[in-house]
Amino acid sequence: MAEYKHVALIGLGLIAGSIGLAMRRAGMTARISGYARSAATRARALERGLVDECFESAAEAVVGADLVILCVPVGVMGALAAEIAPHLASGATVSDVGSVKAEVMEAIAPHLPDNVHFVPAHPLAGTEHSGPDSGFASLFDNRWCLMTPDEGSDPEAVQRLIDYWRALGARVDTMDAAHHDLVVAVTSHAPHLIAYTMVGVADDLKRVTESEVINYSAGGFRDFTRIASSDPTMWRDVFLHNKAATLEILGRFTEELFALQRAIRTGDGDMLHDYFTRTRAIRRGIIDAGQDSAAPDFGRVKP
Ligand code: NAP
Repeated sequence: MAEYKHVALIGLGLIAGSIGLAMRRAGMTARISGYARSAATRARALERGLVDECFESAAEAVVGADLVILCVPVGVMGALAAEIAPHLASGATVSDVGSVKAEVMEAIAPHLPDNVHFVPAHPLAGTEHSGPDSGFASLFDNRWCLMTPDEGSDPEAVQRLIDYWRALGARVDTMDAAHHDLVVAVTSHAPHLIAYTMVGVADDLKRVTESEVINYSAGGFRDFTRIASSDPTMWRDVFLHNKAATLEILGRFTEELFALQRAIRTGDGDMLHDYFTRTRAIRRGIIDAGQDSAAPDFGRVKP
């Protein structure tokens, strides 16, 4: 399948920066044009070599591109799609990396002309950092990139984008958008909300115990604070646009929490032990699938 000749990255933060660097690493010869809202981000993206050239408008950045990837927060995808639509080259593929699929597709698709292909995607890879300094070439290595084409999507355009993501290091799977949104509500969105909540609780407690929560924070809490430091704009938009699936999972979470609470109150050690045995097996499954390291502290380097 032919490589793209000109890729336009709209938004130049963690994901777009990692795409640009992974393209270079893969030896792709495509020209990379980019757009970011702020002059500071555009300057940094050029300094780091994330893109070959940067434009002050998304419309200018997409001219002549055969692949356009929207890498902005979920809540602004629709407005940017509307802006670039009249400037897209005939036959181009438009994709995105949004963490939510159904609503993002509804926001983008109506703006696109008939002569372009729309192939939505979501790389399941990220860190708690954001902005043009945070991207790195190996971000997608061995991580899944989920594609959510609809029945109308051109199979060749889909395959070409699958090949592209594989060259960036990712494993690729396809599924429908609603299923995607439920899966990520379980694996990513609800866990982030729980981390935000737990850190909020500790913050309240800190007022009682002064700095103890920070000084004595153990591994579990530290991991929550890492997750809860993720970009506020990105995560606000994720929850506002994956409302139904997130609320469904949080409802189930609350039921489980009550069951565990009851087991603690009634001294039901067997229930707790069985539960924790089951969850430990899930962790082993993730390691066996190559999606995390078994090293203590998740393999992170000590500060
Ligand atoms: P990021 O590092 O915060 O970068 C976002 C980029 O979008 C920046 O270049 C920013 O420009 C631009 N932007 C923000 N608001 C904008 C607006 N209103 N109009 C125009 N441009 C705007 O974000 P990211 O982590 O790369 O995330 C990008 C997308 O990838 C999101 O849809 C997110 O859901 C998805 N995603 C994220 C992760 C993750 O873990 N971070 C993983 C998978 C998918 P300025 O710098 O000039 O403000």
